Amino acid sequence: RQSTVVITGTSSGVGLQAAKALAQTGQWQVVMACRNLSKAEEAAQSVGIRQGSYTIIHLDLASLDSVRQFVKDFRATGRSLDALVCNAAIYMPLIKEPLWSPDGYELSVATNHLGHFLLCNLMLEDLKKSSASEPRLVILGTVTHNPNELGGKIPPRPDLGDLKGFEAGFKAPYSMIDGKKFEPVKAYKDSKVCNVLTMRELHRRYHESTGITFSSLYPGCVATTALFRDHYPLFQKLFPIFQKYITGGFVSEEEAGKRVAEVVADPAYNQSGMYWSWGNRQKKNGKSFVQKVSNEASDEDKAERLWELSAKLVGLA
Ligand code: NDP
Repeated sequence: RQSTVVITGTSSGVGLQAAKALAQTGQWQVVMACRNLSKAEEAAQSVGIRQGSYTIIHLDLASLDSVRQFVKDFRATGRSLDALVCNAAIYMPLIKEPLWSPDGYELSVATNHLGHFLLCNLMLEDLKKSSASEPRLVILGTVTHNPNELGGKIPPRPDLGDLKGFEAGFKAPYSMIDGKKFEPVKAYKDSKVCNVLTMRELHRRYHESTGITFSSLYPGCVATTALFRDHYPLFQKLFPIFQKYITGGFVSEEEAGKRVAEVVADPAYNQSGMYWSWGNRQKKNGKSFVQKVSNEASDEDKAERLWELSAKLVGLA
């Protein structure tokens, strides 16, 4: 039987290559969950994903209505869901003022965290019905979530504080989870801390009762992706060179996609609640290992509180 995986944000970068890696095994039907259907179709064709091995369904993670509609549309296909990959993200380092989602939330946290939070909660029901021996739910993390790691030391550092912004309803004038002044780079990093906390809380709440494997990973520094498209042009030019020749952290989009595909499909990644990494410096044939997440991302009380507040913000509680 062919398994089905839903991957968000496969119109470029890591998600596109993960879709390719899984589709070409022949064992996976890939549902590409994207906000721009024609871009996604062109992207799939441009990297040679075989016709018939993928379906594209509209999903705009910034909009909670769109997330709900996506789940309905997926269910209408009649497929069972065997794996879900939360990959899509935006990063807008240069904006001075926050942008707002249709629901009135700061756009990067709305897209990277809240949209995925709702999607995970709704699709948990589908994963529970999977007949696969071990259904999986994978959320992309990043080294910048962790100030204890080299790549995470550069300020501004992520800090959800006491979740004051979320507690206050996270609508203008609140644009940051900690309720403080808007800082776009920190907003991205905060959203990625939320991704890791969500994975850990999913594991705590549901692993034992459902058998679903929940995991997260740092795919390496994929310095060429469109994630950096809103950065200074000079940064976009120099960052890959810096990562290739100075830090040694550079990973190709194809390699990063393969890593995601492994965490989705390889029996070696069957431990739930784990955060996988291949390290900061890439070595030839480097092996993955379970990495400790940041202090904040391992805070169980914060995970629970974040879960409760996020559930309110997306209309689940
Ligand atoms: P890309 O910008 O190449 O890909 C992001 C994808 O997300 C695109 O398909 C984009 O679609 C999609 N997306 C953005 N906003 C939305 C939305 N509102 N609804 C639906 N889809 C959306 O970035 P990467 O491939 O680099 O990033 C993928 C993941 O990897 C992210 O979670 C990122 O945090 C993580 N990561 C990346 C690293 C890197 O060095 N690049 C390092 C560590 C982690 P569209 O084409 O329409 O914009």
